[in-house]
Amino acid sequence: MLKNLHPDKALEVILENAHSLRLKLGDETISLENALGRAASRKMISEIDHPPFAKSAMDGFAYRTADQQTFYRVVESVQAGSFSDASLHDDEVVRIMTGAPIPEGAAGVQRVEWTTDAGKDEQGRSLVRFSLKEKITNIIEAGENLKKGELLLTPRMLQPQDIGILAAGGCARIDVAKQPRVCVVSTGNEIMAAGQKLAKARIYDSNGPQLTAQARQAGADAHFLGIVPDERSALLAVLIKALAEYDILVLSGGVSMGDFDLVPSVLQELGVEPIFHNLAMRPGKPTFFGKTDTCAVFGLPGNPVSTFVNFEVLVKPFIHACMGIEYKPRMARARLARELARKGSDRVEFLPGILEADEFGLRASPLPYHGSSMITVLERADILFRMELGQSSIPEGAIVDVRLIRP
Ligand code: AMP
Ligand code: MG
Repeated sequence: MLKNLHPDKALEVILENAHSLRLKLGDETISLENALGRAASRKMISEIDHPPFAKSAMDGFAYRTADQQTFYRVVESVQAGSFSDASLHDDEVVRIMTGAPIPEGAAGVQRVEWTTDAGKDEQGRSLVRFSLKEKITNIIEAGENLKKGELLLTPRMLQPQDIGILAAGGCARIDVAKQPRVCVVSTGNEIMAAGQKLAKARIYDSNGPQLTAQARQAGADAHFLGIVPDERSALLAVLIKALAEYDILVLSGGVSMGDFDLVPSVLQELGVEPIFHNLAMRPGKPTFFGKTDTCAVFGLPGNPVSTFVNFEVLVKPFIHACMGIEYKPRMARARLARELARKGSDRVEFLPGILEADEFGLRASPLPYHGSSMITVLERADILFRMELGQSSIPEGAIVDVRLIRP
């Protein structure tokens, strides 16, 4: 079993174990309506030109030739969704609305704001004149955005704008990776569910709800299995079920060196092969990762900031990889507002901060932080700083890459 692993190496090891689950899960086809947050599993190609026809970008008058001397006769009016068969002469225009198809032979559209009403001709038809010269045609050509057969979308976790793009391309259904089934278990005699009166020496379970929410946001089908006391028999009962029924098990608490930290030994008793236990990472030193043939198991230390950061750094990329998506954290480059200093430098450390814009660009400020039990720091934190092995301080003003933790 691997010990004191660098978190980058730990992530590599974790991701190596995602391939088999990816194959086992496979894909399903769902309606676009239900696709938000799901992992599009293959490239999507446009089946139509976008736009499908040349259309007007303006409300105005479609012309063959433009000049400011002509009194143009308005021969027809065409709105979006209709089309005109008019074949224009040089002194004729078609009144056209934004989004309507450009009539055959028209060279451009004069926007209505740059025209003047010139009364009627002998037959009572409206006349207009062009008051200013257009620099562009105001035509959006057929296929200008995208041609039929071109790439519409690469595999990714679908955001609202992706759904818009797919719908514009005429896709009503999409192939997505099946969601891994994740279960979350909180451990500890002191842990109680919110909603109950807090008893002496007890604290509320924040990890269970938080990890379940993190797993859902990462695209998994996540379920909370409850709070289990630090007792062998109780742990065995819940973990047997968890290992049998889920693809991924995420535990919090009970993985350190205390007398009642029973999770790793109970897991091993149940046939979980330990892959690593113990990382060169703060928070998250005692983190455990193991697997059975059908289930990957993460045992995260119980402190809430620790579970949050460990999920973000290690579990979320795994969930994405199980759906065929490479997780790339969103990063920003910013100026460090205050020196970032620490005592030891024997672990890679993640520290909370805030990111703001000022007149010089982006500025990243460390937040007051007393350690990984301080969940309240996450209310303000929108970034994580990362300090490397051997790095005990980063000077004020240094340019740093920070990880964004709020979407
Ligand atoms: P452990 O990893 O079990 O040693 O727990 C480390 C610290 O995290 C202890 O102070 C626990 O009380 C706290 N803790 C453990 N589990 C939870 C939880 N589910 N919610 C909030 N705090 C927790
Ligand atoms: Mg505990």
